[in-house]
Parts: sequence; C-alpha cells; structure tokens
Amino acid sequence: MITLVKHEWHQVDSQFAVELDKDKLREIYPDLDDADIDVKLKEIESGEVSVDELIADAAESQVDFEWERQYDDWWTDRKGGYEITYELGDDSSWHTPPAPPLPTKKCTQCRWEGGAHETRTAYFDKNGVELTGDVDHYDRTTDVCPMCDGALSNINPSHRCTSCDWVGSYLDVDSVWNKDRDEQNREEGDYCPECGSQVTETTGSDVEVPADNGLPEFPSEPSREALEEALDELKKEFDLMNAPKKSSKKTKK
Ligand SMILES: [Zn+2]
Ligand SMILES: [Zn+2]
Repeated sequence: MITLVKHEWHQVDSQFAVELDKDKLREIYPDLDDADIDVKLKEIESGEVSVDELIADAAESQVDFEWERQYDDWWTDRKGGYEITYELGDDSSWHTPPAPPLPTKKCTQCRWEGGAHETRTAYFDKNGVELTGDVDHYDRTTDVCPMCDGALSNINPSHRCTSCDWVGSYLDVDSVWNKDRDEQNREEGDYCPECGSQVTETTGSDVEVPADNGLPEFPSEPSREALEEALDELKKEFDLMNAPKKSSKKTKK
C-alpha cells in the first residue's frame, strides 16, 4: 500500500499579550529618570511612540517580553480558501496511526481472530474432498482458520447485504468508484462479495451473525468412525512396541 499525504496550507494569526509597566520601561530605557519614564509611558499610550519603536528599543537593550499566548485566529478558515498540495508519504507521515480494523472473522475452534484476508482458503473437489498442493480445478472453496483449519464465524460486521445473508466489514465489500470502470456498469457504491447486491451499513447489533453462510461446515470434529480407526491404529502400534521387548527379554534369558 502507498501512503498519500494532503497538505492544507492554512495561515494562523497566533495572538500574544504582555503587560507593559514602568519597571519594564526602566529596563528598556536605563538612562531615563522616573519623570522621563512617566512621559515615555504616556507617549506609548497615545501612540506618539509606536509599538514597533518600543520593540526595537527593547531589542537594542536586550530586554525580552514574557509574551503570553492568547488565541489562534485561523483567518484562512474564516475567509475560506487555502492552498492544498499533495505528495507521496511514508510511514513517518502518520502522526496519528490509522486505527487497526476490527477483526471480522473468528475461529470456532481456537482463539484466532482476524480479517478475511488472513484466513486460509481451502479448496474442495465435487466430492467434498479437500485438494492440496497446486490446485487447478476445484468445485468450491471455504475460508478456514489459518492456525487450526477450524470453521470461522463472522464477528463485528459493519456491512450487510440487502439481498442475501452476507455480513462483513467494509474491507470485504466490492466497492465501485466509477460506473464506467465497473465491468457490470454498476453505480458508485458498495456491493456484496457473495451475490453482488447492494450492501448497507449496520450497527452490528441489528444483525444476527450467521456462521459462514451456505457452505458445509469444515469437518472440525473427527467422526466416531475415525476415532475408532485411530484407536485401532494405536492398539496395533502398542502391540508392535511390546513385541520386540518380549523377544529381547527372551534373548536375555
Ligand atoms: Zn483456529
Ligand atoms: Zn449478497
């Protein structure tokens, strides 16, 4: 992914204020006596001596003012219109890190949670047998837990289909930005990844979240037959392990 950066060049008038008293004036004009200081104060008050002059004199005497920030007047906002520039960014452009999207899939077997793009896709032939290795032909797919191959359920849905029972996050929807660029010439909007109908946003609380819809559940628990078979295997192995021990005892005797 690429980071894009937009700059809005606003101008801000940050206002500061400070109280000017006789002590400060004495610092600025060390050569003046008290009477002259009173006169200077009046001159500044009346505008006879400009503030710019005073600031210049203070600088000359190396006297600083303890300016206190008052407020920022974003006058470009007030007046409307400001320059906008764009550029490519990088990781350092994110002063506010983007919020990680909520997980939308949850494993029904282990504690895994994550996004649809993190799941593992299992491929099946028409007899329902999972295909492994390089898969050329398959009958159907189902998304399973990347950790344990368990079946997944949907969580934190933000979007739902208006036609089928699909629910998911905005990351999973088919977004059309430009009608002319869409193969199906659909109007700009978000569409269901399952059936192509329009999706709507949901608060999440108004939907019952179905387990992965329509697809037969991935065999998560071994059948009784499979268990008995495994037990038989174990018994055979156990017997095999015991056999050499007996013979070794015999040879010792
Ligand atoms: Zn799992
Ligand atoms: Zn749908």
